[in-house]
Amino acid sequence: MNILRIALDVPLATLFDYLDGGSAAQVGQRVLVPFGARKVIGIVIARSATSEFETARLKSIIRVFGDEPPIPPATLKLLAFCADYYQYPFGQALLAALPSRLREAQPAILSRRVGYALTEIARQGGEELIPKRAASQRKLYAALRDTDALDSAALALLSPGWRGALRAMREKNWVRETTLDQPSATGVAAPAPPLNADQQHTVQTILDGGGDFRVWLLHGITGSGKTEVYMRLLDAMLADNASQALVLVPEINLTPQLEARFRARFPRHSIVMLHSRMNESERLQGWLRAQNGEARIVIGTRLSVFTPMKNPALVIVDEEHDSSYKQQDAMRYSARDVAIMRAKMADIPIVLGSATPALETWHNAQTGRYHLLTLSQRAVQSAALPALRCIDTRPHHAQDGLSQPLLVAMRQRLARGEQSLLFINRRGYSPVLLCGACGWVAPCARCSSRLVVHLRERKLRCHHCGHEQRPPLQCPSCGNPDLHPTGHGTQRLEETLARHFPEARILRVDRDSMRRKNAIKDMTAKVHANEVDILVGTQMLAKGHDFPNLTLVGVMDTDSALFSPDFRAAERLFAQLLQVAGRAGRADKPGEVLIQTNFPDHALFAALQKQDYAQFAQSLLEERKLAHFPPWCFEALLRAEATHLAPVQTFLDLAAREAREIKSKITLYDIARPQMERLKGMERAQLLAQAASRQALQKFLQTWVARLRALPQASKVRWSVDVDPLEY
Ligand code: ADP
Ligand code: ZN
Ligand code: ZN
Repeated sequence: MNILRIALDVPLATLFDYLDGGSAAQVGQRVLVPFGARKVIGIVIARSATSEFETARLKSIIRVFGDEPPIPPATLKLLAFCADYYQYPFGQALLAALPSRLREAQPAILSRRVGYALTEIARQGGEELIPKRAASQRKLYAALRDTDALDSAALALLSPGWRGALRAMREKNWVRETTLDQPSATGVAAPAPPLNADQQHTVQTILDGGGDFRVWLLHGITGSGKTEVYMRLLDAMLADNASQALVLVPEINLTPQLEARFRARFPRHSIVMLHSRMNESERLQGWLRAQNGEARIVIGTRLSVFTPMKNPALVIVDEEHDSSYKQQDAMRYSARDVAIMRAKMADIPIVLGSATPALETWHNAQTGRYHLLTLSQRAVQSAALPALRCIDTRPHHAQDGLSQPLLVAMRQRLARGEQSLLFINRRGYSPVLLCGACGWVAPCARCSSRLVVHLRERKLRCHHCGHEQRPPLQCPSCGNPDLHPTGHGTQRLEETLARHFPEARILRVDRDSMRRKNAIKDMTAKVHANEVDILVGTQMLAKGHDFPNLTLVGVMDTDSALFSPDFRAAERLFAQLLQVAGRAGRADKPGEVLIQTNFPDHALFAALQKQDYAQFAQSLLEERKLAHFPPWCFEALLRAEATHLAPVQTFLDLAAREAREIKSKITLYDIARPQMERLKGMERAQLLAQAASRQALQKFLQTWVARLRALPQASKVRWSVDVDPLEY
């Protein structure tokens, strides 16, 4: 059994055989192997006595990282399932799921931060032990007394003389060295509010459901107390000393507030955060601590769904409908769906939470595959639901994007010292640069999109490919020097508001203004400290924040989504508006939501006013049934792109022919161009396949994709398969 079958990060759906070189490399362990002229990291998937290749010609591995814990079988199995389901090479799927440090040829070790703690002698002796003149020592003492331990960075903040003070206190045996990242043994949990009847019922039902696999859908509007329910479940499930839980949140939801809330509630459990804003060594440490069972709660975004755990007992997916759970490149997986598969494989319960579940999820709850639980009101009694009203922008023509009724409402808030939020879905100054004489608009040279005006930087920028250029001095088409930024983005709205309300403190929140590290944290603090009167922001502001003094939400532009060709646009708009509405009036002040639209009679607004997701979902489901769209069918999209359209067309023609030769009940659509026909200089086209069942689709894809890989024309284009696509 000296042959190792190894997964490598190469675009081939196969494992690679190597000799073990006499090592005791186990399944799941990392190895360094020669691959062509390179040395690459691989993962051992199996040992074998035979190879289909001549043993004499097999190479030996160079090194095994034998001190590292092997990646557990459950993680390998989950990734193998995903590679299969999403038609992606297993080796690439597996290696991409690892923290990047595990793709480097360095041993991964669990490191511990050194911390300092008071000794028992010092605690008992009290502050009187410390000489009166030793001010730095007194500061250190006071800080250490209130906690388990602090690291040197924390001590350095207390006093410039901390080094000397620490040395002196250690010599007297008042302070000892310890390791951090351990949960606090003495921590006192923040008090939990008594649950209301809905919450009580929910928690009890899920707990009564037992520890086996079951999918719960927790449906409740923002502020209905879903997070509180999650925490109660964690509390109950983690009472067992070894068990662990995985909590998935959308990227944008991972606010400092959420982390603080969990840490305050579970001071005795080690909590690990895993998201894109942390550095690679932090990610590795979090991963290792989840794997060895030390981290009891893992809170993370999409990619953390693959984090190995020793004793998983519960999975939670918050805002399960959020599109950030879908990976849009490489392996195009849905972290929500993978989480469900993971819970199924581990035979543990999973809770999906949302105010506006994805229609696919809702459908599953309606048909009884998932178990629906509802929180029907806001958790804080006095927090009334915001009143929702449309402002008809036909009579109330919006001069510079802002209608009179909205301005009046904002002025009221300013007078009362309350906060307003204006929600606009476009960052930048204005979405287009227009020539009034000939109608020319500045296009992106690489995409079929328009360049967005960023006035402050004096730049035109493509939000799809990142291309930047200076604005032309005159119209390239007719020579007219008078070019106008047209339409509204966050920057322009901010400027307009400053003109209307010169006395107001205005803060813009979008990707541009929040680029800095800690920018979100600072913004949150400012809003809480009432240092902001008006917030202008994109969807970044729609979720996860809790601003008690915010009583007005204005929504600027929705009409394009009302009539979008994308059949999911209405579902998304409803979710987005309900979520923004959730920002208003969370505490004891009633909130109001004003939506500017040319179509106030649209059915979507009626449902929104009643906050009636169920009815809205029902009508959408019926529409989709008639149109034969998901969830009434299952889809896969074959995308292809190249610098010229011809090879794309040829490849897709062949792909369509292959598909027709496979005996299946697949509906294959004609070759089509996506909404963005050109992107980053590439011409794009696609082929959509539909099936009545997941199984039928999977069976078809197995054969089809294998045949596609074998096509010589496949190497002439960039192509990919998107199973359960969300964008077309
Ligand atoms: P969601 O996750 O559905 O948005 P949260 O769990 O964050 O809702 O609850 C909203 C607010 O209500 C939070 O400030 C939370 O502390 C509070 N809350 C939740 N449940 C209760 C309860 N049973 N009693 C009092 N306050 C509660
Ligand atoms: Zn012109
Ligand atoms: Zn572009």
